[in-house]
Amino acid sequence: MSVFNSPTLSGAEGKGSTSVVHNFNAGPSILPKVVFEEAAQAILNFNNTGLSILETGHRTPVFQEVMDEARVLVRELMNLDNDHEVLFLHGGASTQFMQVPMNLLDEKDTAAFADTGVWSTKAIKEAKLFGKVEVVCSSKESNFTYIPKDFAVPNDAKYLHITTNNTIYGTQWQSIPKTSNSLVADMSSDIFSRVLDFNSFDLIYAGAQKNMGPAGVNLIVINKNILGKVKRSIPTIMDYRNHIKEGSMLNTPPVFAVYVSMLTLRWLKAQGGVAAIEKLNNEKAALLYKALDENPLFTGTVNKEDRSKMNACFVMKDPALEQSFLQFTKEHGIVGIKGHRLVGGFRASLYNALPISSVEVLAQLMKEFAGQHA
Ligand SMILES: *Cc1c(COP(=O)(O)O)cnc(C)c1O
Repeated sequence: MSVFNSPTLSGAEGKGSTSVVHNFNAGPSILPKVVFEEAAQAILNFNNTGLSILETGHRTPVFQEVMDEARVLVRELMNLDNDHEVLFLHGGASTQFMQVPMNLLDEKDTAAFADTGVWSTKAIKEAKLFGKVEVVCSSKESNFTYIPKDFAVPNDAKYLHITTNNTIYGTQWQSIPKTSNSLVADMSSDIFSRVLDFNSFDLIYAGAQKNMGPAGVNLIVINKNILGKVKRSIPTIMDYRNHIKEGSMLNTPPVFAVYVSMLTLRWLKAQGGVAAIEKLNNEKAALLYKALDENPLFTGTVNKEDRSKMNACFVMKDPALEQSFLQFTKEHGIVGIKGHRLVGGFRASLYNALPISSVEVLAQLMKEFAGQHA
């Protein structure tokens, strides 16, 4: 049996007689099929070395090439200038909730935060351990169903932190707030999904497992000029400057996660880069939201203008039907659309690697289900 025929491997173009799976998981989530194939091969024989990548030293030239290529691909795809450094670090985005303020915020300093969901709230909690926090806007009172528009950031705030896409609630900043302050962004769930002026951010972080690779690695893009300004002593492993100096190889990096992320970035470049994938992402989101808005049984959970193109959240007007819709879609190969417990209903994640054909199937099933329950 070939592992590539397994129905648990995602992609609407699954081979052979196995049934097709449409993977709408929120994270870890779908990656390109060709990436799974290459990664599987590298586990058996990495670059014809006769060794698995899992038993290959991180200081070897073959792995150094992987790290170098991954970092160069990030620079290219994000169009970064020379002030911005690219790091791949351990710990998931949650580690950045702590590492960012540890490096940027002294005890007497203030950081400004936009509170737009669970992940922002967690980032706020950690920042308070290192300095003062001013929450400059929040949509908490409405269970985070919108992105706040009018708010002011104190001039002396060291930085403004935003979560560009709110994975759980399904909202997304359609435009990045203009501020004279340093801008820090958690882009875990929409990194590489749309063109932004990435150089206008002083620090971007993203856990890989939503849109860039497997769990186990973070991408950090950082303007090196903002570092070295705090008075506290920073533990070696937490100080970005040490990672920059060592080319993201201060200690053993998460070798396999970096490798699979590099393969995904290569794939993205071959698709035409971020602008090309953004066009597709726009089409996928438009298709799903149209199916949602036309359907009498369903309703979206957030402000239309703030809808996320990565995570579409919706509920049924009659919650008693939700279980049966879930079962109906499951029978047709749909995976991962159960909503987060804080929102309920459904969440369809439409990350870069999800083919539009999968969205077409889900849209069609919503329509059919409505036909059966009209
Ligand atoms: C998933 C997610 C996180 C948490 O990532 P971990 O890697 O599990 O720490 C943080 N922020 C956002 C926006 C996320 O989607």
